[in-house]
Amino acid sequence: MRLILLGPPGAGKGTQAQRLIAKHRIVQLSTGDMLRAAVAAGTPVGLRAKSIMERGELVPDEVVIAIVADRIDQPDAKRGFVLDGFPRTVPQAQALDRLLAERGFKLDGVIELKVDEGILIRRIEKRVAEMTARGEKVRADDTPEVLKGRLAAYRAQTAPLADYYADKRLLKSVDGMASIDEVTAAIGRLLSPVRTPKAGSSRRKAKPIRTEKRPVRKGSPRRKRPAGAKRKNKSGQRKKRTRRS
Ligand code: ADP
Repeated sequence: MRLILLGPPGAGKGTQAQRLIAKHRIVQLSTGDMLRAAVAAGTPVGLRAKSIMERGELVPDEVVIAIVADRIDQPDAKRGFVLDGFPRTVPQAQALDRLLAERGFKLDGVIELKVDEGILIRRIEKRVAEMTARGEKVRADDTPEVLKGRLAAYRAQTAPLADYYADKRLLKSVDGMASIDEVTAAIGRLLSPVRTPKAGSSRRKAKPIRTEKRPVRKGSPRRKRPAGAKRKNKSGQRKKRTRRS
């Protein structure tokens, strides 16, 4: 299974990705996590991305495309993956199409988490407060000012991907404002829809189940033998047992 999660920062992509990977035994490929790891490790990519990420802007396409190209070739991604945070621009989506086509892979769906921006800001503030209370390190770009920049980048560069994938008939939208469990259930339904025959379809109707008792005719081979009685042959004699030599 190969999926994309689409939605603005704080929409719950990471949470739903975790549930999807557990259910389908696939891996989560989060470009945000990969870039943060590169920044922490001080790799050339990390050094390039650090200040861009701190401003809430997008890292250049060629950088993230190269990271994703490497990652989807890892053995653990063979069974499938859920992309979280990638693609974020139309050129990234086109590059992904090429990467998948070269490998003979296809996308199973793009799940868009639809959310209200005003509520998102409150959600992220809550997430920051909870992380601080637990003594965890808060992301450098999780401040209200940077978040506004991330949302603006989403609106301008990433939101057009909804149309891009709708044209390819891959877009599936869910209400991201519902509870975490409800969103998970909605995604589950989208990925394995229950097929109900359409009204007026030409499919043949199933035979009705007979519920009435059939009349038992005398002498019918269906008639039950009384318990303990031996089977008789046609002339009414008991069947002889023949020993096999
Ligand atoms: P969020 O979606 O919550 O804003 P992410 O963890 O996905 O956060 O990304 C954090 C930052 O990493 C982004 O603001 C951006 O600077 C960079 N980034 C992540 N993925 C991409 C991408 N596909 N293209 C460009 N920049 C990216």
